[in-house]
Amino acid sequence: AYPEGFAPGYINIKKVIVDSNQVDYEIDDTILKVKLDKAFKPKQKLTLTFEFETQIPPSRGRFGYGQNTYNIANWYPILAVYDEKGWHKEPYYSMGDPFYSEVGLYEVNIKAPKEYTIAASGSLNQKRQENGQVIWSFATGLVRDFAWIASANFETKEADVGNTKVKSYYIKGNEKYGQKALEYGKNAISFFNEHFGDYPYSDYSIVAANFFIGGMEYPNLVIIGDELYGPGEFLEYVVVHETAHQWWYGLVGNNQIDEAWLDEALAEYSTLIYYEHYYGKRVGQSIYEQLILNSYRFYEASTTPGPILRHLSDFTDWMDYSATVYNKGAIMLKDLEARIGKYKLHEALKLYFKQNIYKNATGEDFIKALNHVTGTDWTDYIYSWLKGTETLDKAA
Ligand SMILES: [Zn+2]
Repeated sequence: AYPEGFAPGYINIKKVIVDSNQVDYEIDDTILKVKLDKAFKPKQKLTLTFEFETQIPPSRGRFGYGQNTYNIANWYPILAVYDEKGWHKEPYYSMGDPFYSEVGLYEVNIKAPKEYTIAASGSLNQKRQENGQVIWSFATGLVRDFAWIASANFETKEADVGNTKVKSYYIKGNEKYGQKALEYGKNAISFFNEHFGDYPYSDYSIVAANFFIGGMEYPNLVIIGDELYGPGEFLEYVVVHETAHQWWYGLVGNNQIDEAWLDEALAEYSTLIYYEHYYGKRVGQSIYEQLILNSYRFYEASTTPGPILRHLSDFTDWMDYSATVYNKGAIMLKDLEARIGKYKLHEALKLYFKQNIYKNATGEDFIKALNHVTGTDWTDYIYSWLKGTETLDKAA
């Protein structure tokens, strides 16, 4: 992912201020610990100010740049989650999406040279000129992260779906596929609105970027690798998968380090039912067989896969991660669908969404919604899929 040679990026913290006092802090790998003078009680408020500098590396990753885009994601200090298990002080992992956060309201001002267009989480409130540069002011609803992509070569197309403006940012000259990305995103939002619950935000952006691994989800914004903007079925698949993450990861959060399946398998399953809805049962089934079932069987033929439910650090490589978390996770949901019917499973997803919107959910919350809708206890069934290592023929 370093086409122009390796150069590291960094974040250099210069100052931390609590309310109006500069304070000491410790940094251990990616964790910054601020020492408060006195205990911080529930419902108490304080203001933390960070002054920092970052270097954007020449890398087609979440934080880096390529020929056409600056990808500015996971770029600022974010509050670690504190729950009944205490602080979640996980380091960064090079596999999966090693992120876990709470929702918050963001106001972000970005100053950029005037030839740049900026796609970002939230909504653009204002754009003003200052000394030949442009200041873009964004504000968000309740979201769990803020990402932005800048390019001097963006063109855009947009369309309304419900109360949301869907925008497609594509690299100049690729209008045909920029338009297609817009259609796919629009159809996905409209279908998921109806099936899971309404998307509450006023903006959603599908953004083409120099990106090394297909797509990546952020609140109100998804990154789509620009090499997918061409013939082939993957542009639609990736746009729909990342759009499904607006519900599973975005609105209903989860610990993606401990329970990656919870957003990935749900996003895969959501993509499959999108295909069935728009293209019919046969196409849906063939996408399922080609991209998920056969893909997993192929992996299973070459090795003995570990269980779906593993900590991110326990996966051996991306192949292992995607075969078990995405593919086997979706196979479990298809098996469940065959047992309880599509209608009940979709009712369970609706309930899971309604009960956990803006929160962080766990596998237990998913099972709770499922049990409630079906009147049956699925705990053992789900955990035998999640923790089992039998081959597919024995599991199903
Ligand atoms: Zn995903």
